Amino acid sequence: MPKQENGQREDSLIQNDLSESFGEEVRAFLGDEEKLHLFDDLTKVNPVTTRTVLKCLQARYTINLFYTNAGSSLVALNPFQPFSCLYSPELMREYHVALCPQDLKPHIFAVAEQTYRNVQKQMDPVNQSIIVSGESGAGKTWTSRCLMKFYASVAASVVSPNGSETVERIEKRVLDSNPVMEAFGNACTRRNNNSSRFGKYIQLQLDRFHHLTGASIQTFLLEKTRVTYQAPNERNFHIFYQITKGATAEERLEWNLPEGAEYRWLPNSERNLDEDCFEVTRGAMFHLGIGHTTQSNIFKVLSALLHLGNVQFSSPVDESQPCELQDKTKEFVKTTADLLQIPVEELLESLRIRTITAGKQQQVFKKPCSRAECGTRRDCLAKVIYARLFEWLVLVINENIYTDPSVWTSFIGLLDVYGFEAFPENNLEQLCINYANEKLQQHFVAHYLKAQQEEYAAEGLQWSFINYQDNQNCLDLIEGNPLGIFSLLNEECRLNRPSNSDLFQTRIEKALSSNQCLSRDKFSKKPNFIISHYAGKVCYQLAAMVEKNKDAVPPELVHVLQNSKDPLLQKLFPVTEKNQNNTKTQNRAAVVTVVSKFKSSLEHLMEILSRTTPHYIRCIKPNADCQAMTFRREEVLSQLQACGIVEAITISAAGFPVRIPFQSFTERYELLRKSWGSSKKRVWDKSNSHPAEKKGETAVMDDDKAPRAAVLEILQDAVRGQSPAQ
Ligand code: ADP
Ligand code: MG
Repeated sequence: MPKQENGQREDSLIQNDLSESFGEEVRAFLGDEEKLHLFDDLTKVNPVTTRTVLKCLQARYTINLFYTNAGSSLVALNPFQPFSCLYSPELMREYHVALCPQDLKPHIFAVAEQTYRNVQKQMDPVNQSIIVSGESGAGKTWTSRCLMKFYASVAASVVSPNGSETVERIEKRVLDSNPVMEAFGNACTRRNNNSSRFGKYIQLQLDRFHHLTGASIQTFLLEKTRVTYQAPNERNFHIFYQITKGATAEERLEWNLPEGAEYRWLPNSERNLDEDCFEVTRGAMFHLGIGHTTQSNIFKVLSALLHLGNVQFSSPVDESQPCELQDKTKEFVKTTADLLQIPVEELLESLRIRTITAGKQQQVFKKPCSRAECGTRRDCLAKVIYARLFEWLVLVINENIYTDPSVWTSFIGLLDVYGFEAFPENNLEQLCINYANEKLQQHFVAHYLKAQQEEYAAEGLQWSFINYQDNQNCLDLIEGNPLGIFSLLNEECRLNRPSNSDLFQTRIEKALSSNQCLSRDKFSKKPNFIISHYAGKVCYQLAAMVEKNKDAVPPELVHVLQNSKDPLLQKLFPVTEKNQNNTKTQNRAAVVTVVSKFKSSLEHLMEILSRTTPHYIRCIKPNADCQAMTFRREEVLSQLQACGIVEAITISAAGFPVRIPFQSFTERYELLRKSWGSSKKRVWDKSNSHPAEKKGETAVMDDDKAPRAAVLEILQDAVRGQSPAQ
């Protein structure tokens, strides 16, 4: 095949070219559908096109083959039904002891074992990472959990010189981080009953004997708005349901959670899920060093948030007065204040009255908030408490699983990260998530291209990518400094001007119009911008984006929490010198925006990833209804596009999409050789084979040309229309 001019060539075209040039025989060979399931590597499907790849995946799925290699990646289809034999300790062992795990059926354990062996071989770089991606419900968390179990088992199977007890204890603790993180960070959504609402990177640390000695967890972008807003048919974080369903009678009294009480922020609680198991979370917390008293303290604070959610305001008759509390609300405010151990008057004041400092003398004014503002403040209070509680939990877990760097010598990192998102309405959250996916895609493509180059070099092929469009343009559009969407968003926050989405839209267009990845939905009445991502176009709404980016917490709220007598809140909201004396300093400090924070944590992650050998597992959801035995091609295709597999296929096709084993090629085109070989003075010579040839295959020689290159030249000539028939 000739190299593609622009990397965009249609798959069907490629197939037609080949079929037309080589006639019926080739067509049959290329379309041998009955055998498609036999391909356990998608890049070996002939030809590599999205159509054949989809057919191959479907053929395998139908016979319960859920894993397929795709070059250096593994595609994992979610079976949506338990197959315990697929993850049994026996199977783990089989992959672990195999002479060559890659020769066994494609499986996450093959990836896990290869990764582990790379560490043992001191491969350069020795540290490894497994990047698990896919859309919500595709199986990322399941896969990460299985990988962790695999390493826990592999580490335990090695007899530790210090006694296997230490190994077992640490591996148990590492595994126990899962139920705790999931209880606090996962929720039931329309797409997944156990959807992770945060991104996670866990580093499994290994000592020089390659035993698991500890781990560390980094989290990204917890969806804290879920505490106060749950979309129809969705739920709050699991932990809220666990405490309301699983508390003992005594605890119900202590945490003020009477049986059958109703909470606005606890919708769909009649739905019982496996994830509602409070005992599992508690047991895991114990293992992680979070004792009974601290646990009780945490659950009391969570109960306070549920009561806070029931607090509702109504507009006062006299606007100069603070908002009134709706019926029964007084009771909820009182319970919230009691549970948070803050004076009820202070809580009420912080929710209903804004303090303004103005003038040269820095005079302090108090202004009653509107009803809407009171609601926003209430939500903000709940979100800031929950977000800090989550951060603190991660810190505590890390303290209990982390080992001193002097103990471990290498690590395997597992990244369980949200996939590309494109909803009817997208905002700052999707912008961050899709930005992360662009970054990971760039990393993947760079790695994939490198792997391809190496493969071609090993085959003795001269090859270069022409006009391959990478996604740097798109990344420049988002993260460019000083001109990029993130910078412009931060600028809006810094200037603190009244937010006006229409003006902001104009500003973005003026500053970034030269970037071809930017456009706008001109038919929409709402201010927006469109980014052409590698996985498709996404339209982002500008309304509220600047406010979301500020993520400002009114200082009065922080102040009231700092004055709490509750030991946990005192840890979450420490009184530092600065904010005790000067609320203005605190205001300024709060200008660390969401995108700045996200960008820097992502840069830190990319920096770590770039120093590791990457492995990719692409999880695919065969249907949106989470049904077993249902494969919908359209849905799978869009995910293959979103996770970069189609991109990889395109790159593959830009080079040599058809890879026929040398032996088969010469056998199959014997006839062609005879009629064409003489006119072109080609010589077939067994004795003079290329070093890349394996198993003494026959070689096509053209004096100074490497045999495989000569074969390819025949193909290229044929496709260009210079076949012997002409
Ligand atoms: P994600 O983290 O990508 O959002 P999950 O890992 O939570 O998705 O998987 C969603 C659900 O799909 C799981 O709760 C489980 O029921 C099912 N599932 C995922 N992977 C598998 C698998 N390999 N075998 C059986 N069921 C699976
Ligand atoms: Mg998940």
